[in-house]
Amino acid sequence: MSLISIKTKAPDGTGPQYWRSLNQLSDTPEFRQWVEREFPANATELLDGNSRRTVLKMMAASFGLAGLAACSRPVEHIFPNSRGVENYIPGQSYFYTTVMTLAGQVSGLLVETHDGRPTKIEGNPDHPSSRGAATALAQASILNLYDPDRSARVLQGGMDSSWEQFEAFIKTLQLGDGSGLRFLSQSVASPSLLALRADTLKKFPKAKWVEFESFQRTAGPAGAMLAFGQAVTPQTKFDKAKVILGLDSDFLGLDWQTPLPTKQYASRRRVASEEDLEKINRLYSVESQFSLTGLNADHRLRLKGSEIKQFAVDLAAALGALPGLNVVGNGGGRREQFLAAVVKDLKAAGPDALVITSPRQPPIVHALAFLMNQSLGSLGNTIEFTKSATEDRVDAGPDALKALAAEMTAGQVSTLVMLGGNPVFTAPADVQFGSALSKVANSIHLGQDDDETAASVKWHLPEAHYLESWGDAATASGVAAIQQPLIAPIFGGRTSAEIVALVSGSAVTKAHDIVKNYWTAQWPAASREITWKKTLNDGVVASAKPADTVKVTADAKKIAAAVAAEPKAASGGIEVAFVPSAQMWDGRYANNPWMQEAPDPLTKLTWGNAALISPATAAAKSLQDGDIVTLQGGGLKLEIAVMIQPGQADDCVTVTLGYGRTRCGRVGKGVGYNANLIRTTGGFWYGSGFELASTGNRLSGSDRLSTTQEHGTIGDNGVNAEHLQGRPVFREVTIEDYKKNPKVVEEMQEVPALHSVYHEFTYDQGYQWGMSIDLGSCTGCNACVVACQSENNIPVVGKDQVLRGREMHWIRMDRYYVGSQDEPRAVQQPLPCMQCENAPCENVCPVAATTHSPEGLNDMVYNRCVGTRYCANNCPFKVRHFNFLNFHKNDPEILSMAQNPDVTVRMRGVMEKCTYCVQRIQEARITSKGEGRREIKDGEIVTACQQTCPADAIVFGNINDPNSRVSKLKQQERNYAMLAELDVRPRTTYLARLRNPNPELGA
Ligand code: SF4
Repeated sequence: MSLISIKTKAPDGTGPQYWRSLNQLSDTPEFRQWVEREFPANATELLDGNSRRTVLKMMAASFGLAGLAACSRPVEHIFPNSRGVENYIPGQSYFYTTVMTLAGQVSGLLVETHDGRPTKIEGNPDHPSSRGAATALAQASILNLYDPDRSARVLQGGMDSSWEQFEAFIKTLQLGDGSGLRFLSQSVASPSLLALRADTLKKFPKAKWVEFESFQRTAGPAGAMLAFGQAVTPQTKFDKAKVILGLDSDFLGLDWQTPLPTKQYASRRRVASEEDLEKINRLYSVESQFSLTGLNADHRLRLKGSEIKQFAVDLAAALGALPGLNVVGNGGGRREQFLAAVVKDLKAAGPDALVITSPRQPPIVHALAFLMNQSLGSLGNTIEFTKSATEDRVDAGPDALKALAAEMTAGQVSTLVMLGGNPVFTAPADVQFGSALSKVANSIHLGQDDDETAASVKWHLPEAHYLESWGDAATASGVAAIQQPLIAPIFGGRTSAEIVALVSGSAVTKAHDIVKNYWTAQWPAASREITWKKTLNDGVVASAKPADTVKVTADAKKIAAAVAAEPKAASGGIEVAFVPSAQMWDGRYANNPWMQEAPDPLTKLTWGNAALISPATAAAKSLQDGDIVTLQGGGLKLEIAVMIQPGQADDCVTVTLGYGRTRCGRVGKGVGYNANLIRTTGGFWYGSGFELASTGNRLSGSDRLSTTQEHGTIGDNGVNAEHLQGRPVFREVTIEDYKKNPKVVEEMQEVPALHSVYHEFTYDQGYQWGMSIDLGSCTGCNACVVACQSENNIPVVGKDQVLRGREMHWIRMDRYYVGSQDEPRAVQQPLPCMQCENAPCENVCPVAATTHSPEGLNDMVYNRCVGTRYCANNCPFKVRHFNFLNFHKNDPEILSMAQNPDVTVRMRGVMEKCTYCVQRIQEARITSKGEGRREIKDGEIVTACQQTCPADAIVFGNINDPNSRVSKLKQQERNYAMLAELDVRPRTTYLARLRNPNPELGA
């Protein structure tokens, strides 16, 4: 692709041009070829024998038997959220509350089960960090439960052993005062495990405990300690903020693994009234790589990660928060203009302003952010603080891990108990954890996978998945919930608490008893049982004491002194930024095919990662997508393919973590590149002084980067380009323009009076289902895509098929860039089947396999479909997906346990697409009939995408009822139907995105 022929204006030169890739922007022959042919090459070729999909299909049937054996209920009683067990009806779905912890962050969940097997994850509406929503990773965690490659055996020195033998081994250990005993865990959020840890450290006074996560959140607490001189945890209230500045913060994406920030942020982006228009927030983002937060920002400034500290210092000085310091402008025009406008806006917002940074920035940036909030008066309003618990002998973070490895290497650790995680893979390269581990006589690893760490230890123990084990978890604000299992451990795993109890010689070693004893001991004896049942039912512990709110004052002088003492940012060379993957996280989702195939929200990459570089860096180094480069620095080296990422900071390479696993299940092994090979404790988030050089090789054939960014392209340059040229598929408007002319969205496209040549059916009777998607509040988080996949048994097709454009997701998450390739904005648009009233797919089907229901659904009759694919060719939105192969045929039997029995599993040769979750419509119909009601109430049917959406951007309902929520949304002036001028009459319509740019920075 040539970067010379870039054009950034719409074809008629009037408005912004939306583009999906640099290929599209340049209108390259490759791009034209792609969009002219929906399935570009070899459409009917069978898989070659080595594809990942084939491997997945060949997973051993014996695991299925193991899974089926585990269908029995656990002996300890669990309680459904809504109905008593005595009313159990076979085939009926039941919901149970539980809780999931990821990197120390806690989400309350509601899990649907069918006949004893968990099938679908939702957010618990009663849990404050979920409020009924779930993230993409939470949705996909159900597939980890049924992963046929999960660790299933106790291993001693790599050979089969048993729990009994391990228990006997533990009894032989002479742990004494614990001098040689160390524990290594991930972040602990479980109150009962914290209590057990305290007891264990008391029993072994010389033992130590280290916490390590690939995504370590230690910088925030350290910054708070620096600013306030005490251990406090910030509680951010995004819903109270009118102006938000994110300093490298991805609070809408990777920085927060709960739906809460998106819930709070989006509550000020949903506009239903003039009053809401006044409340709409404004978001500024300063970052190096395009994040979800950057995508949603009204203004974005790209800076290298190491430059953000100086930006924070300059900003604090300009706000008057750091008296005596002058603004040190070192960035040229755009940076200074941006800074000046932000300062003015933050000052105007005062207590309603919020400056927030990321765990990826050093403590000083956190301290500066707290200080700025203090000077703006927003402490106590948009950000509060609660007391944090501290434990002297618990240390966390990469430096603590390095210190532990040094002790191990020096022979000071005789027994190392690793509770979860995969430190041999995730530890920074300079820690040399694998070699340190070989010096420990008794190395014990509890893990869900037989992974890189399991291969290096004396004892490997299978860890129970959170859906099959008892536990608990509390948020930083003190909201506690019980993790109740939905199924007995499928592979005989145990929990961290059980292992700690065993090692410490506790009398109570069963997870159920540890958790129940911990909580019931806090309740009056007479009401313990009933309180326990109610707690399980509700999903939150009502008696748990919220963390104490504390009033804090930042010490400006101390922070100024710390700023002066900060080392200068290293200059020269390439900076490498390390970020967790939105799909793999730190590698723990590597064997999860849903997440391998879920396109990255920004790059749209599936099945792998790449080194992201800016267009200018690519031009300077003469690199193109798929070229293999070396990243070399500090004696470390990584060979990796590059991908050009618009909006990336220059001279800065971003690599996602979690790929390049060498020992995991068959789905994830060898997929992508392992960034940990060049990550160090000193450059944990941003490593400096790297050299970037081309190897002269490039990816080819089935090794190519499989990005979906051009798939299903419509609109400018797209399929049917002659008809669609310049038509506004995605619509957005500034609130100023909207206030001036509320009809501005409608006027973006003239829709002539249209008359169908067919007899026109009037859909005015009974229920008429429709959907509204608010592009203003949707953040592009992907949760709906994975929720839809889980609910509707949507198959994974594998990298080879994705490269051919055959991914099956029923919701395509289109991402467009706007503006120049260096400084673009980005927008996102979820695209399910539009359920057109005049559906163009229906009248071309030779066998009437797709027909219209009286309630306005564009139904698919799968067993009538003969696979001509005329419908897909005639669909202007490209939302129909064809099963070229029987993608479920050879799935290991255990994977069928994750499938929804209310939805068919489609065969080879049929077309499939969004059905508006027709099974949920039918269920509501049956329920209302069973309850003797004549009407299905508004809000009673919630589609899977709608249910999980943390932004509440999707609303479904009866458009024949003028009072339904969906009808009211469709009456809004910013409602529009995509391609309305084609007279297809989509039932799914969009609310145009409202932007709130700062006039000083232009629209
Ligand atoms: S519509 Fe989908 S992508 Fe958008 S915020 Fe909701 S769940 Fe995320």
